Amino acid sequence: MRLDTKHMRYLTGDDWRALTAVENGSKNHEVVPTPLIEKLSGLRGQVHKNISALAKVGLIARLKNAKYDGYRLTYGGLDYLALNTYRKRKDVYSVGNQIGVGKESDIFVVADEQGVQRVLKIHRLGRISFRTVKANRDYLRNRSSGSWMYMSRLAALKEFTFMTALRDNGFPVPVPLAQSRHTIVMSLIDAFPMRQISSVPDPASLYAELIQMIMRLAQYGLIHGDFNEFNILIKEDTTKEIVDEKEVEKLTLTPILIDFPQMVSIDHANAEYYFDRDVNCIKRFFQRRFGFTADEKGPYLAEAKKMVGRDGAVRLDVSVAASGFSKKMAKELEAYMKEVGVDGDGDPNGERGDEEDDNDEEEEEESGEEEEGDEATSTEPAVDSSDIASLARLQIKD
Ligand code: ADP
Ligand code: MG
Repeated sequence: MRLDTKHMRYLTGDDWRALTAVENGSKNHEVVPTPLIEKLSGLRGQVHKNISALAKVGLIARLKNAKYDGYRLTYGGLDYLALNTYRKRKDVYSVGNQIGVGKESDIFVVADEQGVQRVLKIHRLGRISFRTVKANRDYLRNRSSGSWMYMSRLAALKEFTFMTALRDNGFPVPVPLAQSRHTIVMSLIDAFPMRQISSVPDPASLYAELIQMIMRLAQYGLIHGDFNEFNILIKEDTTKEIVDEKEVEKLTLTPILIDFPQMVSIDHANAEYYFDRDVNCIKRFFQRRFGFTADEKGPYLAEAKKMVGRDGAVRLDVSVAASGFSKKMAKELEAYMKEVGVDGDGDPNGERGDEEDDNDEEEEEESGEEEEGDEATSTEPAVDSSDIASLARLQIKD
C-alpha cells in the first residue's frame, strides 16, 4: 500500500481532532456514529466539514450498509495518525521510498530532522487474509478484538518489544527507535538480505554464525520462528590488514536479524516444529545457494533447551510479558496468525518458495517484490541516494 503523505500538510488542527475522534470511537464501535465523532472531537456543530475533508482524502470511510450513519478509520487514516505522532515526537521528519512490501507489512525509508535515515515498518495484518479467506472473515467478524487494526497494532508492539529486548542483550538487530499504533521506527541497516547474496568467501563460518545465533536465541528462551534468507541482512565490512608486510583487504560479513512478530517461546507447544524449521531453512539455503552442507546433523531442540539461561542469560520470553507485550496479547496474535495462515515470508502454509520453485502462482501474486532478487545477484543496495532526493517533507499544521 502506498503511503501518500501529501495531504498531511493540508489537514487543519480540527481535521486532526476529528480523525483522532474516529480512532478513539473505533475502540468500542465498528462503525463510529457521526454524533460520537462530534462528541469525542469536541467540535460541536461544524464537525461535518472536517469529516468530509477526511473522507475526501480517504482517511476515513463511510459505511454504506451500516444501521446508522457512521465512519471507520482506513489504513491511510491510521498511517497518518502514527506519522503525526512521530512528527510531534521528532522521530520522523520526512518519508522517502518504499523499500519493501511483505505480505503483512510495508517498509519505508524515513529520515529524522538531521536527515539521518531510518526505517518505518507498517504492519498490515489482514491485507491478504481479508480478501482471500472467507472462513477467516467470519472468525474476525465474530471477535471485536480481531480487527485488522488491533492485530496490526499487536504485531507492531510485539516486534518493538522483542527488538528492544534483543538489542538490550547484545543481539545483532536494528536499533528500535519508536513505536506508534501499527508501526515501528528502527535504524536503517545498510545491507542486503541474504537472499540476494550470490556467494560468500567462507560459507562454513557464516553458517556456523547463524546456527550460533539460533542457539543464542534459545539461551534467552526464544525461537525466531521465521529465520530465513529474507530476514537475515548481511552487512559487509572491509578492513585492511597487514599480512606478510603487505596490506590486504579483508571482508567481514555480519548477519543482522530482523522481523520479529512471530517469535515464540522455547516452551511453546510447537517449539520443536518452529525450531527445526528455522534450522532447516538455513541448511537448505546454504545447500542450494552456496553448495554447502554441514558435517553435523542438527542442532535439535533438546540441545537448544539445555542452553536456556546459560551464562546468566535472562529469559526474554518471560520478561517481554512484563514489559508491555502480555501473554494475552501473544495468544490473540498467534491465534489470528494461525487462523489466517500467515506464517513467515514464504507461502501461507509455511513451505517457502526457493530458487527452484519460486514460480508458484500464489507467490507471484502476493509478493512480487521479493521475487525480484531471484537471480541471486547483488544488484541494488537496499537504499540508494535517490531516496534522499525524493523525501517528501512532512509539513503538518498543528
Ligand atoms: P516482513 O514482515 O514483511 O517480512 P521485514 O521486517 O522482514 O518485513 O522487512 C521486509 C524487508 O525490508 C526486508 O527483507 C529488508 O529487505 C527490508 N528491511 C526491513 N527492515 C530493515 C532495516 N531495519 N534496514 C534495512 N532494510 C530493512
Ligand atoms: Mg521478513
